[in-house]
Amino acid sequence: MCISIENNESPICTDCGGACCKSYAGAYHPNDFGHEITEEFLESLFKPVSTIPQVSIDWYVNFNGVNRKGFFLRPRHVGGDIVDPSYGEVCTNLTGHGCTLDWDHRPWQCKLLVPNISYACGDPDVDVKYEAAVAWDKYHDLLDKMYKKYDKGTFTGHKPGTFEAHILSIAQSLRQEEK
Ligand code: SF4
Ligand code: SF4
Repeated sequence: MCISIENNESPICTDCGGACCKSYAGAYHPNDFGHEITEEFLESLFKPVSTIPQVSIDWYVNFNGVNRKGFFLRPRHVGGDIVDPSYGEVCTNLTGHGCTLDWDHRPWQCKLLVPNISYACGDPDVDVKYEAAVAWDKYHDLLDKMYKKYDKGTFTGHKPGTFEAHILSIAQSLRQEEK
């Protein structure tokens, strides 16, 4: 879905300074790359020489309730590695002048945000990590192979689960205030 107001290019975003990008990098959709998702292509995304800024493998923890990871890709976080199950860090594509990527090359989930004066720009009823895992599920075996190859047991930001719970509690408080 494309929206008319562009994240990080609206005056609201200028005033905000990129709160979204400072808290988590938006997930890519497989279609964002315009390239077949192969092992060779994924390997190229992990290298600094790629024309696409480096990405990380992240995941939804208990995907579809079957206690397996729901992998997806997103831009690298500051200090992040190839495997980085974080929630709550700064996207490496963010500069003092906004995102280094032009609109057409931004991740799917970055483009879904609708700039809002309250800076709460995502849909509180949408679990972004889950939606990303659904989009990437057909590549699970390939991403699992990459995960096993590159996992160092490190992460940036919050441990998986803790930040989601924090955001959920904020959303619930806001809804209570609106009543
Ligand atoms: S989309 Fe929202 S949180 Fe992100 S920069 Fe714009 S106003 Fe800030
Ligand atoms: S890719 Fe750009 S818009 Fe998306 S989180 Fe990073 S800096 Fe923000």
